[in-house]
Amino acid sequence: MAMVSQNESNASGAPGPGHSASPACAGAGARCLTIDVEEYFMIEAAHGVVAPADWGDWPSRVQRNIDLLLEMFARHDRVGTFFILGDIARDHPKMVRRIADAGHEIASHGTGHQRLHRLTPDVFADTLTTSFKLLEDATGQRVAGYRAPTFSIVPGTSWAIDVLAEHGVEYDSSIFPVRHPQYGVPDAPPAPFYVQGRDGGARVLEIPPLVWEIAGRHVPVAGGGYFRLLPQWLMKRGLHQARIQGRPAVLYFHPWEFDPDMPRMPLSFTGRIRTYTRLRQAAARLDEVMRLDGPWMRMCDVASRARPEAQERLLLSEAASP
Ligand SMILES: [Zn+2]
Repeated sequence: MAMVSQNESNASGAPGPGHSASPACAGAGARCLTIDVEEYFMIEAAHGVVAPADWGDWPSRVQRNIDLLLEMFARHDRVGTFFILGDIARDHPKMVRRIADAGHEIASHGTGHQRLHRLTPDVFADTLTTSFKLLEDATGQRVAGYRAPTFSIVPGTSWAIDVLAEHGVEYDSSIFPVRHPQYGVPDAPPAPFYVQGRDGGARVLEIPPLVWEIAGRHVPVAGGGYFRLLPQWLMKRGLHQARIQGRPAVLYFHPWEFDPDMPRMPLSFTGRIRTYTRLRQAAARLDEVMRLDGPWMRMCDVASRARPEAQERLLLSEAASP
């Protein structure tokens, strides 16, 4: 039995300043635009195709794409959360600073873009320390949030929760409550919850990407390849349902998804479909999403509102694997 539904409000301490019992203050109905900041050649689909040692052979496109995204955020008067790789922060510290100066939250996407399955707990701890330092040096602001590359916190990597807690991470957004060959925890709750890696281990507030619940299943509608491959009404259906159910809606995008002219890599057939489909339509689609009613919030703001109210607990080591 993976899910333990408990009232966590006492264990999490007194509600923070400004909190009220009103559902409207619990992150309910809030919408979050999140960007996982990486280069096109760092993605999981390029694993085994472009080795990290060869990344320097591929032209950097991330600044161009971040400029495009920052212009869109500004045009729509939106703020979001940018989960940035340490490897990006090392090469582009001024870009990280520009994102922060525009009012967006800077959070961590790790250092290299390795799925956690390929790391030991000690190496994962090092990637966290490194990325936090690079990001904090670039902005002068403390990093509160984390998202694993390719949503790779799953039952088999449940040790990562203890490492996140040891590093003082205030929220995580790595557990995707869907069934997918490479990631996902299908029985994870779609609303913010506390996750524990091991029985009795430390817990971390989890704010999962948006899913649409239909016929007892979780349909991934939060962004990425789903955003480009699936009809746009699916994401809108998911956004509407999240608002009705009073849970925040977390969307995610990547800078390279808005770059139809990026160099093409010799990816597998599936990788090409997931990576290169409808890149020319992506900016117009995101523009339409940004027009939707808010409130649009940064993840750290949703976390501070959700923390006193998150009630369910997931013991990740016993959750169902995809
Ligand atoms: Zn990523």
